[in-house]
Amino acid sequence: MACIGLATKKMNVNSAFLRPSCQNAFLGTGTRSSSTIKAQKADDHYVKEDVVIVGAGIGGLATAVSLERLGIKSKVLEQADSLRTGGTSLTLSKNGWGALDVIGVGNQLRSHFLEIQWARIKSQQGKEMQFFNFKDADPSQEVRAVERKILVETLANQLPQDAISFSSKLASIEKQENGDTLLKLHDGSKVSAKVVVACDGIGSPVAKWMGFTEPKYAGYCAIRGLAIFPGGQPYEPGVEYIYGKGSRVGYVPVSPTKVYWFICFNSPYPGTESVDPSVLRQQSKKLVKNYPSELLKIIDETPDETMISTPIGDRWLWPVLTPSASSGKVVLLGDAWHPMTPNLGQGACCALEDAVFLSKRLAKALQSENPLSVEDAFRCYKNERWRRVFGMTIRAYIAGRVMQSESSLVCALRDNILVPKLAKPGSMLGHTNFKFEPLLTKET
Ligand SMILES: Cc1cc2nc3c(=O)[nH]c(=O)nc-3n(C[C@H](O)[C@H](O)[C@H](O)COP(=O)(O)OP(=O)(O)OC[C@H]3O[C@@H](n4cnc5c(N)ncnc54)[C@H](O)[C@@H]3O)c2cc1C
Repeated sequence: MACIGLATKKMNVNSAFLRPSCQNAFLGTGTRSSSTIKAQKADDHYVKEDVVIVGAGIGGLATAVSLERLGIKSKVLEQADSLRTGGTSLTLSKNGWGALDVIGVGNQLRSHFLEIQWARIKSQQGKEMQFFNFKDADPSQEVRAVERKILVETLANQLPQDAISFSSKLASIEKQENGDTLLKLHDGSKVSAKVVVACDGIGSPVAKWMGFTEPKYAGYCAIRGLAIFPGGQPYEPGVEYIYGKGSRVGYVPVSPTKVYWFICFNSPYPGTESVDPSVLRQQSKKLVKNYPSELLKIIDETPDETMISTPIGDRWLWPVLTPSASSGKVVLLGDAWHPMTPNLGQGACCALEDAVFLSKRLAKALQSENPLSVEDAFRCYKNERWRRVFGMTIRAYIAGRVMQSESSLVCALRDNILVPKLAKPGSMLGHTNFKFEPLLTKET
């Protein structure tokens, strides 16, 4: 193996934002067995790869599958020892489904999850403030709550057996003289990559190396869970939101036997992700004390391992002030680049959009003769995607401020004017419009 050139840029990875122990919290029950990269550990040796994707989350796996469809092999480095299938659920709107269709797994996933017909927003006092049918608002709309476990397993199953290298936690990153990137892993092994797509989530070590600031805590946390009703869950296929003062709750059926729920509550401190499940259950029950008793019933049907508490944060990609999404042949994708608050339910949808958009351009660049084409592809990606994700991040932040407000005046305006009179379903869902081009076209 070749020797390493002199490093021109170097960082050490230490604490990741808001996620001091996420790898423990998520170590999971993945169906894929652990395979570690067979890198030699001698200081001056490394494994060479063309395309390395850091992180086997939603964005990383969607990118690997999209590239695979386009004939480009990649190696995915994941810090956990199996797919992070823990965690709970999330909702995907029509743009998320559009991306999954382009990737070729949409119908496979649809078969697991109920289509959600309507949304209802109530005040804590039980007053209905808004009700709308998704298809009435937009006939092309499609909303389903999705179990993260099934989503990531379905994506991973599209890849060759050895595509994901588990227990491969990125420790530091260096630029090499030849333009390649040297990735040093915690176990001492090294990987040299021509192209790196960093999908390493909200605490992205790669974003830190590229000069991005830590995401900013938004002042509230979310507890989520997945209730299981073995004899069948009793709810209609709708999403219920209930807004209080400084907190809100919601629940939505996922499948005939499962219901996803969440509580967002203001907290001066972010806390950590790993909380004893019995403490989390107690805390959840306390938080829903003044909400409809339905919530207590749902929490009681929730297994410990599906409950998770997450501090909510985001990072605004200010023009000029924020570093670029790419540095040479290293590029950020998903939460690693544009962490956003979950108030529009768009973080994963945008990571999926990113994956499809980037893969198509990257594949074309890698198949071209021009040595600069990868950087050109990254420039096109960041210019096109920035417009979409910057606006979305700000809208999600503002929605969160209103929904989490503790001000009596703001809550009264929200509950009597903003939600019932001003909010129009069509405009509330406008951000889910996104036009996809197929991955494989005549030119690809
Ligand atoms: C409360 C809450 C509710 C949400 N609801 C929705 C919703 O309804 N709809 C929606 O679209 N989005 C939602 N989201 C957002 C969504 O979960 C994220 O946007 C999405 O998971 C981002 O995917 P990603 O692949 O970028 O990052 P992640 O899913 O976080 O994946 C990152 C991966 O990188 C790995 N990794 C990290 N560091 C390293 C390292 N050093 N070396 C190797 N691997 C590493 C991690 O282990 C992980 O597997 C929600 C988020 C929260 C917090």
